[in-house]
Amino acid sequence: MRSFHHADHIGLTSQKQARLVAVGLCVPTGRVNPEQLDELARLADVYGNGEIRLTTGQNAIIPNVFADRVTKLLNEPLLKQLSPRPSPFMRGLVACVGTDYCNLALIETKSRAVALSQALQEKMGAGVNPLTIHWSGCPAGCGNHEAADVGLRGFKTKIDGKLVDAVAVYVGGRTGSHAIAGKEILATVPCDESFPDVIADVIQSYRAEDEYRQQAAFSDPLFTAAATVGLASWRSSSSFAPSAGAV
Ligand code: SF4
Repeated sequence: MRSFHHADHIGLTSQKQARLVAVGLCVPTGRVNPEQLDELARLADVYGNGEIRLTTGQNAIIPNVFADRVTKLLNEPLLKQLSPRPSPFMRGLVACVGTDYCNLALIETKSRAVALSQALQEKMGAGVNPLTIHWSGCPAGCGNHEAADVGLRGFKTKIDGKLVDAVAVYVGGRTGSHAIAGKEILATVPCDESFPDVIADVIQSYRAEDEYRQQAAFSDPLFTAAATVGLASWRSSSSFAPSAGAV
């Protein structure tokens, strides 16, 4: 039976086998260069049993690392780039290939996704609950934008007669036992300099709602029961007031 809680396998996870640990590394948008891939393979040989597992979150796991070797692995230079302790905005980041390699793509996705997550980290700091941010470069939805806390679907639009890149914003999607498709809350958000502000507003709205729900949990036993089984997390969807920066 599937767990109620989503596990992204980032960081250290004790395996069933005694003294063995799996080390999950964040690979922002799943993009690595040949040097990083060679080094990842070397680390898997030196610290594990040569295996590397790839996740649906576009990240990598080195399994079968003896617990007494983990500290040394964590000090390897590659782990500064592929971190086991990424920012909350990078940890759940997924992006389809976008215009780099897809003929159907309407916008560039991967570089833009990393830039947005970095901007959110600067604006909001590290004290935010980890959240999933998924990008799709067209309606085909290969980035599963409707299965994330914040989903972004790219398209082109005209603003003041000029063709520009834009996204539709979805919230509240999740997979697992209580899967639900994300709801579109903003139809057209241009990918311009105000873009990080708009998405930060969306995330803060979520946060405020979560605080409200946590307070409600003290007085509502039914809510408490729902929260216990994962039905009411900060990811829950509700109505949002459109941001001033959104079109
Ligand atoms: S979502 Fe669209 S742009 Fe992205 S990989 Fe799929 S078909 Fe290509």
